[in-house]
Amino acid sequence: MPDIHDLAIIGGGINGCGIARDAAGRGHSVFLCEMDDLGSGTSSRSTKLIHGGLRYLEQFDFRLVRESLLERETLWRIAPHIIHPMRFVLPHQPGLRPAWMLRIGLLIYDNLGGRRHLPATRTLNLKTDPAGAPLKPGTYSTAFEYSDCWVDDARLVVLNARDAADRGAVVRTRTRAIAAKRVDGEWRLTLEDVTTGTRETIAARVLINAAGPWVERVLTGSLGMQAEHRVRLVEGAHIVVPRLFEHDRAYLLQNPDGRVVFAIPYEHDFTLIGTTDRDYQADPAATEITTGEIAYLCEMASSVFATSVRAQDVVWTYSGVRPLIEDSSSDAKSVSREYSLDLDAPSGSAPLLSIVGGKITTYRKLAEAALEKLDPHLGRPQGLAAGWTGNEPLPGGDFAFDAIDTQIAQLGRAYPFLSPSHALRLTRAYGTRAPAILGSAESLQDLGTSFGASLTEREVRYLIAHEWARTADDVAWRRSKLGLHMTPAERSALAAWMNDAVPRSAAASSAVPT
Ligand SMILES: Cc1cc2nc3c(=O)[nH]c(=O)nc-3n(C[C@H](O)[C@H](O)[C@H](O)COP(=O)(O)OP(=O)(O)OC[C@H]3O[C@@H](n4cnc5c(N)ncnc54)[C@H](O)[C@@H]3O)c2cc1C
Repeated sequence: MPDIHDLAIIGGGINGCGIARDAAGRGHSVFLCEMDDLGSGTSSRSTKLIHGGLRYLEQFDFRLVRESLLERETLWRIAPHIIHPMRFVLPHQPGLRPAWMLRIGLLIYDNLGGRRHLPATRTLNLKTDPAGAPLKPGTYSTAFEYSDCWVDDARLVVLNARDAADRGAVVRTRTRAIAAKRVDGEWRLTLEDVTTGTRETIAARVLINAAGPWVERVLTGSLGMQAEHRVRLVEGAHIVVPRLFEHDRAYLLQNPDGRVVFAIPYEHDFTLIGTTDRDYQADPAATEITTGEIAYLCEMASSVFATSVRAQDVVWTYSGVRPLIEDSSSDAKSVSREYSLDLDAPSGSAPLLSIVGGKITTYRKLAEAALEKLDPHLGRPQGLAAGWTGNEPLPGGDFAFDAIDTQIAQLGRAYPFLSPSHALRLTRAYGTRAPAILGSAESLQDLGTSFGASLTEREVRYLIAHEWARTADDVAWRRSKLGLHMTPAERSALAAWMNDAVPRSAAASSAVPT
């Protein structure tokens, strides 16, 4: 049997990678396996908001909303390249939630905690403010504008994994946990390389089941155990359409069915519209938007914006599955977004912690709570103290939270051959690590093959070496969203190139140099 790890984590979504980072920084030895790509589950399919969740106030989830609001500025500070503040316009719609209710909700939202730099709510006159221009004429006169943050969700996952690995964690992608059993007070976890079929067994003191929507399947399948909390899978979908408005604010739109839908500026040329809430029973890997969901989101947007949004305008869609705690709500949209940490540690035997529920926004607090719960079983190594993840920047995020423009300008000055949009994209993705990609290049040609949409061979090689990228989809849809800007022929050429460039086995490609 090889060396024993302190923790083995099943699942490379935001929760698994967040726990791996925190634990590795505290000095624990960590092993994480992900059966597909990092973030390929729910964590790359969110609305991409670091938010308190205005709607959860209606459900009286004050603990969750406060924790989430407090996290906004903390996460912005540790990852100012991939997280930035965003203003949301909430038009008052006669016949729906009354203006006094919106005002009180936003007053609470502004004052529950954690808002030091984000601007406060204000009231807009939509007849004069540019936010009124894209809306149906004559329908709206007043709106409320409030703050939350935007995040590149898939990159947040990878940067947590990167930092965990930089601090000693072993991160293995395309590696499925197929069985686990307790032997002599330890866990024996059997893994399968999904590309080659090779199997191996590792040992760990503690096992964490962070398999997101698969958490119950892992418990009852690979572990042969019963779940403490039932999981309710609630699917949600988004559509992407050509840009609907020119300004950089987002909209929070109310639907008469009580749901809210966001319309968010996306990847400069597009608007992201979502989401839906639909109970889901099938395989989480097979989730796809339905024609009904596309029609619903198009109708919703068309009822508010002056431009109508039709199914044929949709350029991309994605759909994900929320792994929520079953609280017997009759209605999928009302199920709580709280999380629960279910510890199974019969006396003397190796502990198992299962994560159910949560949000991208609360992943860091969830990781802290998970490690606090496991503290008696793990001991205290000589690492960083609890809470460190709120102070140490994520890779590339070591600059002042309000200095992104300075960073972009600096990169442009250091590499004058980059166009302004290229310098902006690289800074927003890699922050202070962008020069590690560009090296001593003096021209675009020095960056090697060009795959289109400003993606070059140097960048792809960096993603393979440092960010576990193995396929064209990893690069075009998770490490970036360049897939939206590339032609099908460019995406095929990237896929063919990667096929030749990437090692086949998961173990070979997990030897990631820092
Ligand atoms: C439509 C939608 C919108 C959302 N919007 C927001 C938002 O705006 N803000 C916000 O804060 N939250 C949002 N969320 C919630 C958030 O996305 C999720 O709570 C979060 O991503 C869950 O992360 P996770 O790590 O638990 O699960 P996942 O990201 O699914 O990770 C679990 C991983 O485990 C892996 N896995 C499963 N079984 C095995 C196995 N046997 N071996 C190895 N690996 C395995 C899977 O491949 C997967 O990658 C949204 C969710 C949805 C669906």
